[in-house]
Amino acid sequence: MPVPVGTYYRISEDMVGDAKGVKRQREDCLNLARLRRWDPVQYEDNDLSAYKPTVVRPDFEQMLKDLDAGIIKGIVVYDLDRFTRQPRELERTIEIYDRHPGLIFASLQGDINLMTSDGRTMARVLVAFANKASADTARRVKRKQEELAVTEVKLVHGGRVPYGWMPDGETADPEAKKEILKAHERIMAGDRIHEIRDDWLARDVIPRSRSGKRFGKDGGLQHSTVTRVLTNPALAGIKVYRGEVLREEHGSLIKGSWEAICTPERLEEVTAELEGRTPPRNPNVTPYLLSGIARCGKCTGPMRGQYRKDRKGNRVPAYCCHQEKGGCGGISRKAEPIDELIISLVLADEERVKSKVTTKAPTWEGEAELAEVQGEIRELIQAKNDKKISVSTLIQLMPDLETKRDRLLAEQRRARAARRTAEVISTASRDAFDALPTIERQRARILQSIQAVIIHPAGKGAGPKFNPDLIEPIWA
Ligand SMILES: [Zn+2]
Repeated sequence: MPVPVGTYYRISEDMVGDAKGVKRQREDCLNLARLRRWDPVQYEDNDLSAYKPTVVRPDFEQMLKDLDAGIIKGIVVYDLDRFTRQPRELERTIEIYDRHPGLIFASLQGDINLMTSDGRTMARVLVAFANKASADTARRVKRKQEELAVTEVKLVHGGRVPYGWMPDGETADPEAKKEILKAHERIMAGDRIHEIRDDWLARDVIPRSRSGKRFGKDGGLQHSTVTRVLTNPALAGIKVYRGEVLREEHGSLIKGSWEAICTPERLEEVTAELEGRTPPRNPNVTPYLLSGIARCGKCTGPMRGQYRKDRKGNRVPAYCCHQEKGGCGGISRKAEPIDELIISLVLADEERVKSKVTTKAPTWEGEAELAEVQGEIRELIQAKNDKKISVSTLIQLMPDLETKRDRLLAEQRRARAARRTAEVISTASRDAFDALPTIERQRARILQSIQAVIIHPAGKGAGPKFNPDLIEPIWA
């Protein structure tokens, strides 16, 4: 006497176009039931989402009732996804399995033993992932609808007109256009963003807002602002909505109505060039040798590097007490002579540092765990390639592992950086110091000798001459 089992099929609107329609699910489930010598009782819900909590699936409900009543002795599904994506429905099912020991739960992706805690955990994980994937799909669908609602593709909808265009948000500003195209050329010739920024500052070519006000504080043109200006998709007439490039349904770019400043190819070239460069470790830190190391002699707050006008009206790099970080803002001093003084002090300190800094590197404990996670990811992909698990199972299991792997990789990077700072950075000569590959390395070397540099106020009537007595190094 064959055991009666419920075979369950579902197709929902988000699966339209999926080859595994109800027909395919039905054939596969019936084959599996026959193979196991079960007697299939068929249940089928069409066009009903297993994700939407408000949707009632009549056959699904009937099947659970029959299962609880002992009319069927188990359930066969194509995969857990088709069964449910609702944790609540899974819990209801588990309760029935609890009440009637010996019930079967089979799927084309392998049986799940809902009687054991291992099997339940697996099922809960799978359903939770499917639920999340559905929520993501729901969000994508909503966003697509929002995108399509933007029928009028304008440069700005009431916001600030970006650098490059006239206040009408349609016509290119000829001066700005010239600057942007020239900067693109310089980038492709290998110039750095900060060189363009300095040039723009020196010639007073600063992006201005519609009201004519400069961006940032007194000439504080950010590195990231220059990058944004030069890689703005709008330059090529491309519309970005919520950080994503808008495309037509067939994938082509949606072109805006405003005047383009360069071709999409040029924009892509420049963007790729800039992305390929090593980014500064922390884009918020101005790459001045002593920013954060220099401290205000009035309030002891951190000073940062910024341009200011000297007595002759030239823009020069300077260290200024950082009001945004709660400083008094009372001291600002030309950077160059201070940098030179500190470098010479640090060079003279080479021998002491060598004897003092230990090469004891902090160790990182996570190598084995990282290798394990990477192995698991490889195995899953292999299992998918060998058709031992389905693509949908792979997709459900991957995000968790990938998150874990990324977290471990980030830890590993941090540990390596920490090990580097524990090495003695050898700067036997001025040339060796200048040859350090990044300003971060130079700063790291300075910090091995000097904890902080206090810049004392010059007092009334002090002349323009640099007075080294006002610069007080605090030795490490
Ligand atoms: Zn201060």
